[in-house]
Amino acid sequence: MENTLHSVDLSFSALYQKQLAFSHSLRLTSAKERIAKLDRLHAAVSAHEEALIEAMWADFKKPSVEVKLTELAPLYMEIKHFKKNLSKWMRPKKVSNHFPFLLGKSRIHYEPKGVVLIIAPWNYPFYLALAPLIAAVAAGNAVTIKPSEFTTHTAKIISKVIASAFTPDEVQVVEGGIEVSQALLEQPFHHIFFTGSTPVGREIMKAAAKHLAGVTLELGGKSPAIIDESADLPAAAAKLMWGKFLNAGQTCIAPDYVLINKDMTTVFMAELEKALETFESKSKASVDMSAIVSERHYQRMRHLLQDATEKGAKILLGGHFDNENRRLSPTVVTEVTSDMLLMQEEIFGPILPLVGVKHTQDAIDHINANDKPLALYVFSRNSFKIDQILQQTSSGGSCINDVVVHITNPELPFGGINQSGLGNYHGLAGFKAFSHEKSVFHQFTRFNVNKMLYPPYGPQKQKLIKWLMKLIK
Ligand code: NAD
Repeated sequence: MENTLHSVDLSFSALYQKQLAFSHSLRLTSAKERIAKLDRLHAAVSAHEEALIEAMWADFKKPSVEVKLTELAPLYMEIKHFKKNLSKWMRPKKVSNHFPFLLGKSRIHYEPKGVVLIIAPWNYPFYLALAPLIAAVAAGNAVTIKPSEFTTHTAKIISKVIASAFTPDEVQVVEGGIEVSQALLEQPFHHIFFTGSTPVGREIMKAAAKHLAGVTLELGGKSPAIIDESADLPAAAAKLMWGKFLNAGQTCIAPDYVLINKDMTTVFMAELEKALETFESKSKASVDMSAIVSERHYQRMRHLLQDATEKGAKILLGGHFDNENRRLSPTVVTEVTSDMLLMQEEIFGPILPLVGVKHTQDAIDHINANDKPLALYVFSRNSFKIDQILQQTSSGGSCINDVVVHITNPELPFGGINQSGLGNYHGLAGFKAFSHEKSVFHQFTRFNVNKMLYPPYGPQKQKLIKWLMKLIK
């Protein structure tokens, strides 16, 4: 294939048309048939586990335990959850009727959206390509997946897994970078499921507008953690250290920074240090933490830290760069101010700033003055304070006295709000994201109820309408 945008575009059109033609038969598939597809996907993933672990090490030295915990386990759990519930979810849902059409039947039918595009990022490159796929396939769609160009070894495994479980008419993988993504977006997909950064999310929405495609945007941003005076500090420190340095901080819902009462900062620092020591004493921290994904992203980390220290921030922990392995040791900084890049962009790396506040309302005001976060973490044992924070702030999701783990419950819809995303998925929310909820009213046919509403509107009809209006009001 000649690698110009134009030729890519034309061949994508052919690929899209093939999936479109096939999607008509997918609409007719039963829950049993779709579950069999999920079983095939499960078997294909399982057969490629070792290859995936090697690929992710080659891409960004992701520790094998983290591959199992964060890429494979949640996929298997999601497949299990779909298999258990799919036939129930697919069933048309009966809803009640309202006067005067009480004799008909009202139902919501879940029909597949049709042909959908999944664009994935590099930070959890396998899970974030395949988790939406589970929902898309279960909902009866044909799917094109575009993995990230930053994790090419993993992208190859995704292609192999998909090729061994599906025909390209049903699910295909198109590898490549931004140009490939843009060329795919020229096709009139019925739904675009995008996971990535907020600026690119805006581009995706623009492209979707051309065809009025549906969108789910799983975006990023700064997810703060609030620690109040009643919090269990050692537990909070351990949880924050784990959540921040998992995947070297390259997690969309990693705690980005901590809002803490100024008077507690010193005590909390000591707890953070202790927590880090326990992580490191078990094995070498450098091996148990992923590398930064690319030289560009690694240099970004350097720049963020340099900018912060030049403007007066203090490094309290870590700050050691290992250029050969593109690693940065877990780093905690204080004395940060809003003019530092660290406090302006999503950090997406192993740097944790501590921001001193006077009281909880200060922390709430800080959050409300910025973009709505994807996740908001609260460490407190005061239920009044917890409610106060939840009620006065808006975020995609929230986790009380823990971090990150809210993503693991398939009963909880996962997604952002406004700048951190549109729509959500996981479990039923995912099934709905890839389905159209079609309203169907099936009228009773023995006699025509509507007749009483037809013109001409003589005095008797007017009387009837008057009576009806009274009833409705
Ligand atoms: P990114 O936005 O740079 O890229 C994501 C995907 O979009 C890639 O496949 C890329 O090829 C494609 N892309 C990039 N620019 C494009 C353009 N102009 N037009 C069309 N396609 C384009 O994101 P990333 O760097 O891969 O991932 C990191 C970001 O993703 C972070 O902001 C993170 O918070 C966010 N994220 C969010 C979630 C979530 O579930 N909400 C999960 C993981 C990552």
